[in-house]
Amino acid sequence: MDAKILDGKRIAEEIKEGLKKEIESLKEKGISPKLVAVQVGENPASAVYTRAQQKNCEKLEIKYELHTLEQNSSQKEVTEHIQQLNRNGEVTGVILQLPLPQGIDTIEVQSSISPDKDVEGVNPANMGWVLYGKPKLIPCTAAAIIKLIETTGVNLYGKEVVMVGHSDIVGKPTALLLLNKFATISVCHIATGERGNLPEYVKKAEILIVAVGKANLVKGDWIREGAVVIDVGINRVEGKILGDVEFEKAKERASWITPVPGGVGPITTAMLLKNTVDAAQLQNLPKKI
Ligand code: NAP
Repeated sequence: MDAKILDGKRIAEEIKEGLKKEIESLKEKGISPKLVAVQVGENPASAVYTRAQQKNCEKLEIKYELHTLEQNSSQKEVTEHIQQLNRNGEVTGVILQLPLPQGIDTIEVQSSISPDKDVEGVNPANMGWVLYGKPKLIPCTAAAIIKLIETTGVNLYGKEVVMVGHSDIVGKPTALLLLNKFATISVCHIATGERGNLPEYVKKAEILIVAVGKANLVKGDWIREGAVVIDVGINRVEGKILGDVEFEKAKERASWITPVPGGVGPITTAMLLKNTVDAAQLQNLPKKI
């Protein structure tokens, strides 16, 4: 079997086309989405992301601003800046660029973003809505993974799903979203790897998601015949970008597989834009009496 390729770029373009229409109808109602990225100090990696954010927002006519705070800003100063953005009615989305300088507690600062403006879904309130199966703003990569699985048409009900990686931003919310769809989830992490049990789990996966950040960690011959393989990993090796799964060999066994690059990445970007539009809508819902 040679797997079908999940073309992230094409799916992302479709999402963005849909968003253009939503933005037009929001503007007709006098609602204009505006995303503000908050960065503390200068950081070359972050600069790549913020330039891409700006370009993507411009294409959809979403207003975008980058606020760069001093490198030596205190946690209180960063939090106060975010609280000002929360109060500013023109700002509909806030994104906090990571990493923050040492000494600043990331989760504390993320919790200061108004849940309705939290376009990365990192405020504990938004994480909580995911837990309760009533997601509002979902972490973008987790939303991208669900979109990719839905694209395959595979019914998640009762499926053996293995999530490798349990980060707060990818592995955990993805596992919860899948659990809410009645998939049977195994979550693997460093201890699974250290005990040597990773191949055993991967081999039983009808749907395999890998978000670790180690090139070719998952060997092609571990893949169950006919599995759906979603590779989230991005690893720069000798000038090339590789995923966490041995792509060429995995492709021979899987039914669907994401390429790296061009799989999860473009959809994650599209999901940030979708969350920006959804956030603007959330803030303008009629108030319940
Ligand atoms: P992270 O926070 O570093 O999490 C990595 C996870 O992998 C952790 O749960 C870690 O467990 C686990 N792990 C480490 N070694 C392992 C092993 N040998 N076996 C099993 N599990 C192991 O990273 P992340 O933010 O989730 O990102 C993961 C990868 O996805 C990175 O390459 C990142 O660049 C990429 N990514 C891509 C996108 C995209 O849009 N394409 C978005 C986000 C992230 P412990 O915590 O217990 O050590």
